[in-house]
Amino acid sequence: MNGVTEPMHTAAPHTRKWVLFKLTLYLGAAFALLSCASINSQPAIEPDVTLNRYEYASIHMGSRCSIVLYAPTEHEAAASARAAFDEIARVEETLTDYRPDSESMRATSQPRGTWVIVSQILFEVLERSALFYELSNGAFDPTVGRFIHLWRHAQLESRTPSRVELVDAAYAVGFSSIQLDKANNRVRFMRAGIILDFGAIGKGFAADRALEILRSHGCDAALVDIGGDIAMGDPPPNNPRGWDVSVQSGNGAEWSTPLHSSAIATSGDLERHYEQNGIIYSHILDPRTGVGVTHRRAVTVIARDGTTADSVASIVSVLGEQIIPVLEDRFPGIRILIETRPRYDQQP
Ligand code: ADP
Ligand code: MG
Repeated sequence: MNGVTEPMHTAAPHTRKWVLFKLTLYLGAAFALLSCASINSQPAIEPDVTLNRYEYASIHMGSRCSIVLYAPTEHEAAASARAAFDEIARVEETLTDYRPDSESMRATSQPRGTWVIVSQILFEVLERSALFYELSNGAFDPTVGRFIHLWRHAQLESRTPSRVELVDAAYAVGFSSIQLDKANNRVRFMRAGIILDFGAIGKGFAADRALEILRSHGCDAALVDIGGDIAMGDPPPNNPRGWDVSVQSGNGAEWSTPLHSSAIATSGDLERHYEQNGIIYSHILDPRTGVGVTHRRAVTVIARDGTTADSVASIVSVLGEQIIPVLEDRFPGIRILIETRPRYDQQP
């Protein structure tokens, strides 16, 4: 079962960083007219199928994951959710830098310059990362893993990394040292000691994959939420406007919007940061310096898919509004909201 729980009939609010997502999911909408199976090649005179709403929750990627879907029977709903959670687990196992035997960690531990044939998951996430790396001029860079490990270690000793440590780690950072060979699904690393950290893209990517799995099971009206990275398919049958997602910021302001066939993500520093000597360093760092950003921005992004929303939120966290025109040009229709707060070191 992989942690799939019984269907729940309420949708609890999910807190994430300093933005609270409250999914007001439509209860009491157990019966619907549209058929999940209608896109399949069903006979033309198929009777209407009654769809019920199901919600499942599980823990993956260090986060609470929930799946909301509409299906004709509990049996079908549970099987679909189980397959989707399995996919999230597969993405996590492939990408994690917390386990030395993950595919990502094994790939980077090969001798420098060795071609390594990789899974479709790892190749695809590297390929998407390459695009975001280029678009952001290196502000988004999953090779920051060495810096992240350095900061984790320093944090345990209640200090910040020394300049020497940062310079040393910088030798193993730089996505441009990764070469991708799409024709052969292989990759090679032209620097030694790289640690890939997909923290800024992995949850959005996993949500997209899970949504695809649900679709392949005939569940087009579905939502996947991985710790606040939310990917949505078709709208709920009872609400063609979409899934009602409300975003509440730290200062109490709240806005709400119905969304479907899109994704939403946030990045910020209120929940996940490191404070040392009166300075708050975000868990998102500037790959050019190896130091966590101190701008105190909360970024919300609505994009066509979770991979884009997740990555773009991190890019804007590093670069701020100056990068928005580039992103809007590359991803027409994308919506990016930045909330700034005084830098911690500038507060009275
Ligand atoms: P979360 O949703 O888990 O808060 P984000 O999407 O905001 O994560 O991404 C932050 C994570 O990405 C960090 O915890 C780290 O693992 C990784 N990371 C930090 N800085 C960068 C960066 N500049 N480029 C790519 N990944 C980063
Ligand atoms: Mg992100």
